[in-house]
Amino acid sequence: MELRVLIEMNFRKLTTYMLLASITALVMSGCSKEVEVTETSELTSETTTVATTEPTPEPTSKPLRTAEEYRTAGINELNSIPILMYHRIYGMKNSETEYTGGNVDKDGYNRTSEAFENDLRSFYEQGYRMMRLNDFVDGYIDVEYGYSPLILTFDDGIRDVVIEGWNDDGTPKFDPTCAIAILEKIKAEYPDYNVTATFFLNKQLFRNKEEDDRKVIKWLVDNGYDIGNHTYDHVQLGGLSPAELEKQVGQMYKILDEIIPGRYVNIIALPFGSPEAADKPQYEKIFAGTYEGFSYTTKATLLCAWTRSYSPFVRDYNKTQIRRIRAYDNGGVYWDIEDNFKQLNNGKRYISDGDPDTIVFPAADNASGTWLKETYGRKVVEYT
Ligand SMILES: [Zn+2]
Repeated sequence: MELRVLIEMNFRKLTTYMLLASITALVMSGCSKEVEVTETSELTSETTTVATTEPTPEPTSKPLRTAEEYRTAGINELNSIPILMYHRIYGMKNSETEYTGGNVDKDGYNRTSEAFENDLRSFYEQGYRMMRLNDFVDGYIDVEYGYSPLILTFDDGIRDVVIEGWNDDGTPKFDPTCAIAILEKIKAEYPDYNVTATFFLNKQLFRNKEEDDRKVIKWLVDNGYDIGNHTYDHVQLGGLSPAELEKQVGQMYKILDEIIPGRYVNIIALPFGSPEAADKPQYEKIFAGTYEGFSYTTKATLLCAWTRSYSPFVRDYNKTQIRRIRAYDNGGVYWDIEDNFKQLNNGKRYISDGDPDTIVFPAADNASGTWLKETYGRKVVEYT
């Protein structure tokens, strides 16, 4: 393989240079077609000098593939990611509810265990693999080449982790129809699914005996799950004073910090979505504050929403209003699970290049030069 490297400077910000290296790779083996791969890497030093002679491309942890390989696999890391919002999982068959599909209530906030298990199998079959919400917020997406990320969230803690007792070895015995039991079953069946989820809790935690809840929360973080903040009392945040807001957020973080010091995620699922709070000045108390001497920060907040999330790398992604898909059935229309995945699978889904340290996408998707916005220090690879 022969590489021709062209370098040009592009002044983006006063303190930031964007270094654009167009690499034309002449692929001599296997296929004689000429492909072009454009690499962009962000440098933060103003004093960086660019070699006028041909530099060697920086080595990456994994070898870059050819543009043709990326095209064939449809790699696109500027596309969207499904973040599912579940609530309670009830031990029921779909035929036992009077509502559409696996809905347990009229609005489909709660789901049957049969439907939940089928959801997980279906997402796997469609080529989705799970990842942690916390990694997504950090712009660290570690999903196998050619597969798409999937993120699960559960709000309110009810019927998600139902404890029936404890085994002699200290592991919990779960009601086999609650969310965690089904997740564990699927984890055993599909080792490459990377089963994980984030549970957003209020002061009642999972509503088992408090001692059991505290113990199981430790078990959860030891076993690849995450715990986030859904506020202390689950009230509408928009009408609260700054001090009340600080209490709702800080008191919940304080409880989590007592149970699992430093091991919860600093992410809040806003109760009722609470978008009305976003425009108010006291909203800053969601992101930083001190309650009874305990200081906290929040790095992202989730809405209820209706649809897929933007990639964390693009312009319209807003970490304070991360969108989620309501996990409900509605005959494949109006943003139910089927509708959302139909849209994702029709050219909207993020397809990973398998390397969390690179952001790979077709150059045409960032033709404006402004769609790719935040790189989190990752290496950028455009292909044509
Ligand atoms: Zn809630």
